[in-house]
Amino acid sequence: MIDVERVRADTPGVERVIHLNNAGSALPPRPVHDAMVRHLELELAIGGYEAAAAAKAAVDRPYAAVAELLNAKPHEIAMVENATRGWDMAFYAFRFQPGDRILTTHAEYSSNYIAYLQAHQRWGVEVHVIPPDGDGALDVEALERMVDERVKLISITHVPTNGGLVNPAAAVGRIAKRHGIPFLLDACQSAGQMPLDVEEIGCDMLSATARKFLRGPRGFGFLYVRDSWIKRLEPPLLDLHAATWTAPDRYDIVDDARRFENWERNYAAQIGMGVAVDYALALGLPAIAERVCSLAEELRQRLAAIPGVTVRDLGRQRCGIVTFTHDRLTPEEIKTALAAHRIQVSVSTITSTRLDMSARDLRALVRASPHYYTTSDELALTAEVLRTL
Ligand SMILES: *Cc1c(COP(=O)(O)O)cnc(C)c1O
Repeated sequence: MIDVERVRADTPGVERVIHLNNAGSALPPRPVHDAMVRHLELELAIGGYEAAAAAKAAVDRPYAAVAELLNAKPHEIAMVENATRGWDMAFYAFRFQPGDRILTTHAEYSSNYIAYLQAHQRWGVEVHVIPPDGDGALDVEALERMVDERVKLISITHVPTNGGLVNPAAAVGRIAKRHGIPFLLDACQSAGQMPLDVEEIGCDMLSATARKFLRGPRGFGFLYVRDSWIKRLEPPLLDLHAATWTAPDRYDIVDDARRFENWERNYAAQIGMGVAVDYALALGLPAIAERVCSLAEELRQRLAAIPGVTVRDLGRQRCGIVTFTHDRLTPEEIKTALAAHRIQVSVSTITSTRLDMSARDLRALVRASPHYYTTSDELALTAEVLRTL
């Protein structure tokens, strides 16, 4: 069980705000902040290269920490600027041919879908959307029927940005494995709020960001690539870190997942992400998931009892993202009204998940995403404010 008092004591932000925007960017815990500031101070004192060398253990830790988080190996982890860039490095490494098919989800994240559309325009790739089942998650049986020799990639979002549903990633992984199709998982919203095991899920590539449920810094993320895929994927971009210039007319790409990285990076942020992952590991992902899910479910129940409010989450298995609309007020108006009470939510709009939102005739939703440091009292207060609007 999570010691709520202790994690709140580690989280100065809870003194000022009720933060229900962990799907956007969480309140970081004190140890993450302190480690980053310490590194900036070291850079101030001795210079950036020298500070990175002096802090080598902390700089290297995120590879092992993320590997532990995912049940992977450190050499399968790449450090990147954000989830999107990590995802891009994997996606654009595929050499698609005209007529190749990509299977994806109905509530796919816009950046991913834009990449599919570009692949369609550039290379004649066909994008096929796995239809949702009766509950809104991707329909595993439909996926099974859609698989054939033209399918060159299964690329899905684990938890969509616009709702609480959790897609059945492990079931997708079993199908991908059986047919020998590479499987790319966007775990941006699931990393840090639930256990992720790449062996159990069976994904070959997985991307995530530090700032969301992992409570790490902004501007940092990671990519996992399964050992057996690393050497088969030539990164779309190379530099002197991803490859070595070994002869005047020759370069060799490095053998591990660092081929998907680039040389220059924010060392303070990398250290901060390592501390954030260690913080989550120390609490335990099962305990985190249990508390986040139960708080989110409590919030859904409180919201459902408010006249004029409609909870919009889909899926049988649900997680820490809660979405809703209001009969009279727009999501922006709700967000502003809550902000006046220092309650922070975000608005998810149609351009983030166009297929799903237009199918449900929605242009925008209020997204409230608690974390394990959220309290029942905070949820009660949020519901009370909404009731008075
Ligand atoms: C936020 C988000 C991303 C993008 O993450 P960045 O770190 O901003 O690149 C990708 N997929 C999903 C589902 C997201 O919610």
